[in-house]
Amino acid sequence: MNILVLNTGSSSLKFQIIRTDLEMIEKGEDEMLAKGLIERIGSQALISYQVVGKGQYKSASPIKDHKQALNHCLAWIVDPNTGIPGIEGIEDIHAVGHRTVHGGEQFTSSVRIDDAVIKSIEDNIDLAPLHNPPNLKGIYAAREVFGPKVPQVAVFDTAFHSTMPELSFLYAIPYQLYRRFKIRKYGFHGTSHRYIGYRYRKLENLSRDKVNIISMHLGNGASACAIKNGKSMDTSMGMSPLDGLMMGTRCGDLDPQVVEFIAHKENSTLEEVLQLLNKRSGLLGISGLTHDLRDLELEWNEYKDRRAKLAIDMFAARVRKYIGAYMAEMGGADAVCFTAGIGENSAMIRREACEGLEFLGIKLDDKLNNEMIGGKEGLISAKDSKVKVYVIPTNEELILARDTCRVVLNAPLP
Ligand code: AMP
Repeated sequence: MNILVLNTGSSSLKFQIIRTDLEMIEKGEDEMLAKGLIERIGSQALISYQVVGKGQYKSASPIKDHKQALNHCLAWIVDPNTGIPGIEGIEDIHAVGHRTVHGGEQFTSSVRIDDAVIKSIEDNIDLAPLHNPPNLKGIYAAREVFGPKVPQVAVFDTAFHSTMPELSFLYAIPYQLYRRFKIRKYGFHGTSHRYIGYRYRKLENLSRDKVNIISMHLGNGASACAIKNGKSMDTSMGMSPLDGLMMGTRCGDLDPQVVEFIAHKENSTLEEVLQLLNKRSGLLGISGLTHDLRDLELEWNEYKDRRAKLAIDMFAARVRKYIGAYMAEMGGADAVCFTAGIGENSAMIRREACEGLEFLGIKLDDKLNNEMIGGKEGLISAKDSKVKVYVIPTNEELILARDTCRVVLNAPLP
């Protein structure tokens, strides 16, 4: 099956075409055929496409909405000159998988999209006002472009965390608020954490129920996940992605009293304070320079900028704190796995985050740590480290494609 995997943001559309079927999944032989990104939808859009084995294509042209963006990428995919060999028309795309951020309590695994599912995702807008509307734009666009015959599947970021026990997912606020409004921790990046668990068990040749790891997804958004017996037992993001670790522009853990205090002192509305906590905090807020860790490392290495270093140190310290907390919560873990932009590339953050954790059995091999960058996968812990430390490049699209294939074929989901 040729599966189109879509990840739509408010003004962006990211896609991959992945060829897979049940046998290919079993053998790990799924093939990524092409990928692309359209940014700044709504104005002069920036477009970049790449077909495996062919060159890269970059351009800029006005694109007014997600439907036009989808048509643009499909035209390119099926073009005999630029496109994918074997895909001659959109009828050669057999299913579409959508990354969908918030499934609420209702969706604990991936589902085929129909009117009722769309209605439920719309109902969850309350819980994910920043994320579900752009996801829906992708779903509406794909339904219009492909029509009813091509099956579409929603894969939820929250689903992997649906196994969290009540004592992990509840906030210590009146229980009625959970009952009435479903105020609770849902967690995000579930597809990424699930992939890390999957890769770890392949690397270690284990069955799923033997996966006891702490997965650290450290990108612009960042979250930690305690995976015990193959299931998420706790995660650092909450009802929204604002909670937990420090991030590029999000504050992470925060005393809620601060919200009222800022609103009062700055004479701001609640929305303005939330905007500040989502968009002007984290690495950006502390450094006053940028949300981008690579640039902060440069600022520190080249110019010894004190606040750049402070932001880096705070980020790493919070990662370390969550490793310690989850070790305690899980009663020990066999491995810590780093992933996403920072986790896959920043030897500095990984070194700082693991510093002083020898008492927990975590010891890095500096040489391996420095070498494991740029999409490499492997161990970075010392031979005598009791707990293994891995870098595993994430691949959410693969999980999306596989789930889409399984749902369409009515095969059991893992
Ligand atoms: P993501 O959201 O997963 O794309 O991750 C983005 C984050 O990864 C940004 O803070 C980037 O600066 C960071 N990142 C990407 N490459 C590197 C690198 N080579 N060194 C340090 N940080 C990096």
